[in-house]
Amino acid sequence: MSEPGGAAVPRIPAEERDRLLANPGFGKVFTDHMVTSSWTSGVGWDAAQLSAYGPLSLDPSTTVLHYGQAIFEGLKAFHQAGGGIATFRPGANARRFGRSAARMAMPQLPEETFVAAVEMLVRADQDWVPSGAERSLYVRPFMISTEAFLGVRPASRYQFLVIASPAGAYFPNGVAPVSVYISEDYVRAAPGGTGEAKAAGNYAASLLAQQQAADEGCDQVVWIDAVERSYVEEMGGMNLFFVRGSGSGAELVTPELTGTLLAGVTRDSLITLARDAGYRVTERRFSVDEWRAGAEDGSLCETFACGTAAVITPVGQVKAKTGDFTIADGAAGPITMRLREELLDIQHGRVPDTRGWVHRIV
Ligand SMILES: *Cc1c(COP(=O)(O)O)cnc(C)c1O
Repeated sequence: MSEPGGAAVPRIPAEERDRLLANPGFGKVFTDHMVTSSWTSGVGWDAAQLSAYGPLSLDPSTTVLHYGQAIFEGLKAFHQAGGGIATFRPGANARRFGRSAARMAMPQLPEETFVAAVEMLVRADQDWVPSGAERSLYVRPFMISTEAFLGVRPASRYQFLVIASPAGAYFPNGVAPVSVYISEDYVRAAPGGTGEAKAAGNYAASLLAQQQAADEGCDQVVWIDAVERSYVEEMGGMNLFFVRGSGSGAELVTPELTGTLLAGVTRDSLITLARDAGYRVTERRFSVDEWRAGAEDGSLCETFACGTAAVITPVGQVKAKTGDFTIADGAAGPITMRLREELLDIQHGRVPDTRGWVHRIV
């Protein structure tokens, strides 16, 4: 890792930054710096550099623009209740980045390089971490192929970059359940495909289904499995949990990682938190029929989606060609809200981190 010798000139003056931080939204505003590192076949990675945030210059024949070798990650940095700034489980993102790279025939970035690059950017742009409840700096590491060549094969050059964007509360007016549309026309991921990788192309292929969900009056799309078209997999870019029963005897079911689901860090963290809270958590296949029957007979009390951006989002209404249904009374359930608070408390340093998840940077 090397940082530029002279003090970098801030791209955005402090007063303007404070104005932007007052209402950052999501993914619209970027910090002063970025981190970059290049990989060349036969040479490997060069030292990661911190530089001013700015446009890339790419030859029009650059492979990523044609064949889409592109993967990404998403994690957040939070102000800690006792002072300082920390990220949440960056090592888990680094490992997943490695798995995504392997699937897309891209080079492995050492996990410690990934984490050090995130640290370098967050430290340089620490004034960009918004303070206040549910606010954070969203950090976006990604890798693209950069060889200028139209032949179809893994590229001989890649670039790894990290950028960051301040993020406001996902639910500025309180947690509100979303409505979902079960996509029967489109498939997100098939066995042997790239569903397990955080690959850019998965998102490109999802946009039409998301548009259809919106046309049907729903907030989000729910994906079902490609083969039997029966089992629930994910909601948009988030994993799902189903709560059977209520109170301390409740069981949480989350779709098992069959190879077509993205293994969320939030999903993994919530499995641990729910088990430590005494709930039974089962990873198995969960069908749309079971979801609907449970909602109709009252045994299925809550459904929520989870991911880094929104933490936990309750699901209230489900729309499908095979019939619509409502989860309980359509409001956010108690286990959903309890787990949401518990995870946020850990991420913001409001409770002791007993699991080694909080990674202090400043
Ligand atoms: C990123 C992502 C998730 C959530 O993963 P987190 O690590 O919890 O943010 C879930 N599903 C898909 C398809 C994703 O891309």
